[in-house]
Amino acid sequence: MIIETSDSSPSSSGITPAPLLRSARLWMPKRVVFTPDALNEPFGRQIYERVSALDLPIEVMKNNRITGLRGADERETYRIAKNTLAVVSAPPSAFRLQPIPPSADWQMNLAEGCPAHCQYCYLAGSLQGPPVVRAYANLPKMLEATAGYEQPGKLTTFEVSCYTDVIGIEHLTGSLAECIRYFGRREQAQLRFVTKYDQVDSLLDLPHHCQTRARVSLNAEAVARRLEGGTASVEARLQALRKLALPREAGGGGYPIGVVLAPIMPIPDWQEHYTHLLDRLADTLDFSCDLNAEFISHRFTPGSKDVLLQWYPNTSLEMDKAGRAEKRNKFGGTKYVYKPADMQTLKQFFFREWQQRFPSAPILYWT
Ligand code: SF4
Repeated sequence: MIIETSDSSPSSSGITPAPLLRSARLWMPKRVVFTPDALNEPFGRQIYERVSALDLPIEVMKNNRITGLRGADERETYRIAKNTLAVVSAPPSAFRLQPIPPSADWQMNLAEGCPAHCQYCYLAGSLQGPPVVRAYANLPKMLEATAGYEQPGKLTTFEVSCYTDVIGIEHLTGSLAECIRYFGRREQAQLRFVTKYDQVDSLLDLPHHCQTRARVSLNAEAVARRLEGGTASVEARLQALRKLALPREAGGGGYPIGVVLAPIMPIPDWQEHYTHLLDRLADTLDFSCDLNAEFISHRFTPGSKDVLLQWYPNTSLEMDKAGRAEKRNKFGGTKYVYKPADMQTLKQFFFREWQQRFPSAPILYWT
């Protein structure tokens, strides 16, 4: 048993909870700050108009440093930062893209920081400083620069969801739509995004020309309810995925789609929980569509564990090194993954169950 269960946990009885259809609450930051550089960018001014129309409190900084993000302790800093949207110009380093196998060829960040509150958050330990959401006002220039990374004769893929939830901030920035329109004009490049939010209506009519793969992150209902604060319920994400995939003539977006099952955790009765999830997915996608899958098992590093315990001191997330295998990366960093035998059991289950339900939808990777 990896995740502790509380008395109220649906998984403690071994019974899969009834699906809950609940949209994510739209994030309305308590503070929106713009740097002077951001307001020099036409796209930055566009974000300013959007935020003004939503009647949110706006500050224009005197210089390009964002201040006022620190609280008395880590918890307060977290609260302040998670309620702040900073619109800034991405530094030159953001134009030098990093490879991101196996998810995509390159990562390009339209923002860094996320309004959701996942207790295993992938950003913990990766972002510098308080977890404020920084949206990039010079996004159109960053998009133009991606052309230099395309490899001739090959579809080159660009992931924009590594450091934020792109739909979680879309109502404030319009950044994802900007990316989708841009990639819709390219032939050898594909945009990839993934979300735990369900507000996809504004994306349905965009001219994506099938150059964007729209993915949702899914998990067992018991994991999502316990650990993924601020996100849409699993059922709402499934409905969003359906809308994105349905053909235009049926009122959908006609996007190629994907499912990211992450982070997979062997909670009590995990086979039952994940079987239910895959069944619901199969019921939801009851039409022909371009679908693929990515499977990511839970892992943590010493650094991410420290940060997560500061952000979520009462978390029930299992991060016990004793039950894990240690893996080193080429830079000498350590991460803790499930032990090889557990990993094998999980992998075999997911491959078998996926292929039974979706025989023509490729699995891109397991990690
Ligand atoms: S959606 Fe992703 S980035 Fe946002 S809080 Fe959850 S894990 Fe972190």
